[in-house]
Amino acid sequence: MSDSPAAASTLTRVPIIDGWFTDDVHAPHLIGSKCPLCGTFVFPPRSGDCPSPFCDSTTLEPTPISRRGKIWSYTENRYTPPPPYVPTEPFEPYALAAVELEAEGLVVLGKVATGVLAADLKVGMEMQLELDVSHRDAEHEYVVYVWAPAAPSTTTTLEGGAA
Ligand SMILES: [Zn+2]
Repeated sequence: MSDSPAAASTLTRVPIIDGWFTDDVHAPHLIGSKCPLCGTFVFPPRSGDCPSPFCDSTTLEPTPISRRGKIWSYTENRYTPPPPYVPTEPFEPYALAAVELEAEGLVVLGKVATGVLAADLKVGMEMQLELDVSHRDAEHEYVVYVWAPAAPSTTTTLEGGAA
């Protein structure tokens, strides 16, 4: 974390999973699929039949979906996951959040931004999509989407009872 050379300009940015999100540093968003007949959304994006049991559509179209949502559930990972996860040395615990996108009616699981752990999260908290670098090799910088606490949309401060 502290000793990565700042050679970002020479590395090619590559999404760690192709086609799940846009590589827009300022306002990345997820890419899902949408049924053109009934409007049902799907994430991760895929083609094929509409998942709605009430719909006969056999096509789904790629579509941008929300980059903001509310925490539905969350957890914290304290052990190194198996490959293809590329571990950091030493392993740093990280949080995972399932974020509900209201407009689409989807729950999207994702890693939480570095440095934000379960103790910092709560159900219902507003989150927004950001991009982070998962790992690097000699030529590439592998980009992953993460959920980060959203900037408050009002100026009201609601911080009571801080320890
Ligand atoms: Zn449909």
